[in-house]
Amino acid sequence: MFLKIRGKEIYYKIKYKKVRHAYLKLNPNYQLEITLPKDGSLKAEELIKEKEKWLLRKIRELENSVKLFDGETIYYKGRRYKIKVIKDRNQRVRVSKNFIEVYKFGKKKIENILREFLADETLEYVLEKTREFSNKTKLIPKSVSIKNMKSFGHCTRERKIFFNSKLICLPKRIIDYVVCHEIIHLQHFNHSKRFKSKVRKFFPEYKKLEKELKKYHW
Ligand SMILES: [Zn+2]
Repeated sequence: MFLKIRGKEIYYKIKYKKVRHAYLKLNPNYQLEITLPKDGSLKAEELIKEKEKWLLRKIRELENSVKLFDGETIYYKGRRYKIKVIKDRNQRVRVSKNFIEVYKFGKKKIENILREFLADETLEYVLEKTREFSNKTKLIPKSVSIKNMKSFGHCTRERKIFFNSKLICLPKRIIDYVVCHEIIHLQHFNHSKRFKSKVRKFFPEYKKLEKELKKYHW
């Protein structure tokens, strides 16, 4: 089934579940998932009409979104590279002028080889940046590690900082902002005015960066 919103065809599927409220989810392939209560009290068409503004905003977000990896290309430090697979004994990745060369051996998937490469690169980069911002702010985390997670950064009450293991795909300015953001959480464990004014000292354009950050997905 599909519906048309401002000229855009959106395919949708409906699931009936034991839920009290309806849920809408727009997937990156523009497929809309609708979850409705089993009792039939809500109609999909009505819900869509009601949520049209939300849907339009989500469509616009998707149109502006950047897929970091699509099997043939990959982003690295904000630049898109073509992936070149080379058969070799060693598993490693090399960034050349126009390509990211993957030396493949055995059955390991290209995506997994690249993920490992990105994780190593991310860790190295965020450790260096953490040192830099820790020096500037005198805020020192208990530990810094990388993780395969949805968000780009995370800071715990125990002063442990985690970064997304694919962060190195993003432009440097954005990575630096994510690092700085998490370090400032060591002082302000919220997004209060004081938190923001401290962030602004290092990244006056942080609002723009926040917005841009939302575009990227794997
Ligand atoms: Zn935050």
